Amino acid sequence: MTAPVRCVFRRNYGSLTIDGPLSETSRWRAVARVLRSPLDAIGSTLFPSPCALCGSPLPQFSSVPICDACWTEIPPHQGFACFRCGDILDQPPVEGIVSSHLCRACRLAPPPFERAVAFATYDGRLRGAIHALKYDRIHSAAQRLGIFLAAAIAQIVPAGTTELLVIPVPLHRSKYKERGFNQARVLAKCAIDVLRKSHPGLHLTLAPATLMRLRATDSQAGLTPRQRRLNVRGAFKVSDPSSVRGKNILLIDDILTTGATARAATQSLLRAGAATVQVATLARARRTLNNQPVIEAQYASMQSSSSTHQSFSRGE
Ligand SMILES: [Zn+2]
Ligand SMILES: [Zn+2]
Repeated sequence: MTAPVRCVFRRNYGSLTIDGPLSETSRWRAVARVLRSPLDAIGSTLFPSPCALCGSPLPQFSSVPICDACWTEIPPHQGFACFRCGDILDQPPVEGIVSSHLCRACRLAPPPFERAVAFATYDGRLRGAIHALKYDRIHSAAQRLGIFLAAAIAQIVPAGTTELLVIPVPLHRSKYKERGFNQARVLAKCAIDVLRKSHPGLHLTLAPATLMRLRATDSQAGLTPRQRRLNVRGAFKVSDPSSVRGKNILLIDDILTTGATARAATQSLLRAGAATVQVATLARARRTLNNQPVIEAQYASMQSSSSTHQSFSRGE
C-alpha cells in the first residue's frame, strides 16, 4: 500500500517539504524544485512576509524577505585583521614589524594561498542572511550578499591584475543533491555580475567545474582546527589541470572558519599548476576563547520555533 504524500508550506515564502515513500521521494523532490522558484516569487510578491531575520513586517512588496534595516546591520569588517588570512588580530599591529600584521596561525604555518579576505564577521544579521540563502533557500538574498562579496573581492585583487579564474569551493555530489545548489557558486556569480560593472578592466571567468570534491567530508562544525585539517585533507582534485596552469585563481566560499577547507582546496590548485590563489568569503567565523570555531549549533538556539527543519548541524 502506498503511504500518503504530505505537502507542507513553511513560513510565508513557500518552502515545500514533502514526506512520501522512498520510491517517490526523488520524483517529488524534482517537482518541488521546479515549483519552488515560481512559488517563492509569486508568494513574496503578492503576500509580503515578515522579515526572515527580525520578524518585523516588510513595508513594501519585495522579492527578498529581508528588511532594509537588517541589511544595514551588516557593516563591513572594521578593525585589525591578519594581513594573510583575515582573522581578527588580538592586538593592533606595530608599524614596521611585519610579523605583527599576522595572526599566530599564519606566523606558525603560513597558508598556501596568498591572501584571504572576508566581508564581515560571521555573526548577527550576516549569519542570518547566509542561513536564509543556504538552508531556507531564499535565493533572492544572493544578489545582496553578492554585493558584499564583491566588496571583499575588490579589497584583495592585487594592483595590475586583469584576469582571474573564479572557482567556487565545490560541494560533494551527495551534499549538492541534498541542498540542490552550491551557495558558493551562486554567490560567486552574483559578485562577478557586480564587479563587471564596478571594475570593467578586471576579467573574471567563473569556472565552477574545475575543482571537484572527491569525498563527502564530515561536517566541519564542532571540530578542532586539527580535526578540520585532517577532515578535508586530500578532499579536492582539479578536473583539468591545463585549465588552471599558470592562472591566478580567486577561490570563493561563503564562510571561512579555520581556513582548513581553503588550504586544502588551494593546495590542490597549486599542485595542478595554478600561479596564485586568493580567497574571498562573505564571512569570517570568530573563534571562541578556547580557540574553537563558533559552531552552527549556537545559531540553532536563536531560531524561532517556526523554523522546523534540521539545518543547523550541517556545518560549512
Ligand atoms: Zn529585518
Ligand atoms: Zn592569519
